[in-house]
Amino acid sequence: MINPYINSIRPDPEEMERRAEMLRDSFSEDYARSERGESIRPRLGDLMSIQYMRERQTLTFVLHPELKATAYEIGYRIGRDICSDMIRGKTLPEIMESNQPIAEGISYAFEEIVEADLKHAVYRHYECADCYGLPNIHDKVCVYEAGVAAGMFSEALGRECMVTELKCCANGDPYCEFLVEVTD
Ligand SMILES: [Zn+2]
Repeated sequence: MINPYINSIRPDPEEMERRAEMLRDSFSEDYARSERGESIRPRLGDLMSIQYMRERQTLTFVLHPELKATAYEIGYRIGRDICSDMIRGKTLPEIMESNQPIAEGISYAFEEIVEADLKHAVYRHYECADCYGLPNIHDKVCVYEAGVAAGMFSEALGRECMVTELKCCANGDPYCEFLVEVTD
């Protein structure tokens, strides 16, 4: 295989942030349009099969596990910059309660809160779009979810949260389970 992207040019950090900011504004506007019942694509609409998305990310993490840290950071920015205004509440239990219906609302997963106190929470995802139905590859692959949740909860709480996936369908478990920890 000859990889045409092997020497991809890296813009300077300010330019990268500028582009990220443009995307953040654009993605936020997409959510607003979606709430008005408008779709991004005029003919195909905004929904597509989950297969392509999960093939790309699962193989990425299996073949390049070092990229999980990057995926977590990207997810964190998505949660912090784009999705956190969906969340209401001041304490972690209130925030978890507010977050609970969002996953089902976008057909990502059914979410169940197992426990929540002021410093930590545990929640589960059933039929997760990222991993449900995958074989047991002895890996936990819902890294973007963990990062997005961490970014959303940190921004909503005003304190730093870390989210770790403890169980995953790709690890032979019947559901995904995530641990939320307030770290400051
Ligand atoms: Zn999972």
